[in-house]
Amino acid sequence: MKEDTKLVHTGRDTANHHGAVNTPVYHASTILFPTMEEYVNRQTSGVAVKYGRRGTPTIFGLEDAMTALEGGAGTVLTPSGLQAITMALISCVKAGDHVLVTDSTYAPTRNFCREILAGFGVESSFYDPQIGAGIEAFIKPNTTVVWTESPGSQTFDVQDIPAISAAAHAAGATVMMDNTWSGGYYFKPLEHGVDISVHAATKYVVGHSDVMMGAVVCNARTLDQVKTRSSYFGNHAGPDDVYLALRGLRTMGVRMPRHFENAMTIARWLQDREEVTRVMYPALPNDPGHTIWKRDFTGASGLFGFVVNTGDQTKVAAMLDGLEFFGMGSSWGGYESLLIPSAPEKNRTATEWTVDGQTLRIHVGLEDPDDLLTDLDKGFDRLNKA
Ligand SMILES: *Cc1c(COP(=O)(O)O)cnc(C)c1O
Repeated sequence: MKEDTKLVHTGRDTANHHGAVNTPVYHASTILFPTMEEYVNRQTSGVAVKYGRRGTPTIFGLEDAMTALEGGAGTVLTPSGLQAITMALISCVKAGDHVLVTDSTYAPTRNFCREILAGFGVESSFYDPQIGAGIEAFIKPNTTVVWTESPGSQTFDVQDIPAISAAAHAAGATVMMDNTWSGGYYFKPLEHGVDISVHAATKYVVGHSDVMMGAVVCNARTLDQVKTRSSYFGNHAGPDDVYLALRGLRTMGVRMPRHFENAMTIARWLQDREEVTRVMYPALPNDPGHTIWKRDFTGASGLFGFVVNTGDQTKVAAMLDGLEFFGMGSSWGGYESLLIPSAPEKNRTATEWTVDGQTLRIHVGLEDPDDLLTDLDKGFDRLNKA
C-alpha cells in the first residue's frame, strides 16, 4: 500500500460498525461480559476490549493507523505530545541509567530529563545535534537511551539519524526520535534505525489546532515494554480527542504537500529580503542540513525559522502586531499560518547558538501564499518604519 492509501484505509473497521466509514467514538469504562467464564478469561482469551483504559475500537483505530504510517510494530497513544515523550523515556530507563539528549530538543523534553529523570536517579547529558557517528564518544556503559529530534526545535538542524542509531545500537542503547516536524509523512524513523518514534499528534496528525494528542510508535524490540509500562502509569487518551486525531490523519496526504509548497515559496522569498539574515529550512538548497534532509526525508513541513536583522523589540512588535493572516500562539501544524518570536540561544547547554537579531518561528498554513507574502511584506514595512 502506498503512503496516501494507508492514510485513508488503515485503522478502519467499517464492517463491524454498520458500514459507517469512521469508527464511532466509544465512551467506555466498564465492558460487560455475558458469562463468568468470559469475564475470568478476558486477559487470555484474545478479546480486544477489556476495560476502557485498556483500549476501545476508537483507540485501536488511531493506534493502527499510526503504526501503519510509520511502519512500526505498535503504537501507544497519550493525552499530549509531551506525554508521549515522557512515556517513551520513563518506560525505557531505570535508576543508574544515562540518557543522551540532542541539544536541539524541544525545551520541555530537556526539563523532564533534568527535573524528573534526575530525581529518579537517571542522569542525562546533552550533545551537539550535528555529531553524527561521533556520538560514540559520548556513550557511557550505562547509556540506555539516545534521544534525537530532527530537524531540531527552533533551530531546524538536521541530524544524521542512521549514523547516530548505528553507534547507539552498537552500544546496546535504544534510539528515540521526536518526529513531530515531518508529521510521520515525510520521514520514517524506524526505517532509519530509530526504535521509538514519538509524535506531538497535536500538530500535523490532528491538523486543525483543536486537540491535544501524542503517539509513541514502537518497533518490535521495544513495543511490549512500552505498552506494559505505560499501562502501569494508567496512561489513556480520551475518545473524542482520539476520534478527531484519526479524522485529521485521513487528510494528511493532501495537507502536507500544500504546507511544503507554501513554505518553500515563503522561505525563498524571505531569503531574498534584506531584513532577513538567515532562514533555517532544510528544504532550501543552501541550508546546512539540506544534504542529509534530501537523503533521508521525502519532503518538508510548514514549520521553520528565520532571523531578522534587528533585535529592537519595538520594530519586531510593529511587524508582528499588525499581521492579518499570521496568528501568534504556541503550537503549530494546523491549517493556519503562525508567526512568533523565539529564542533558540536560551535553549542550549552543550553547544552555543549565536544570533544577531531576532529569531522568528513561522508556521506556513494552507492559505494562498500570495496573501501570506503580501501580509509579510506589509509587516516588513512596519518593521522598517518603527
Ligand atoms: C509541540 C511539540 C511537542 C509537545 O506536544 P504537545 O502536544 O503540545 O504536548 C513535542 N515535540 C515537539 C517537537 C513539539 O513541537
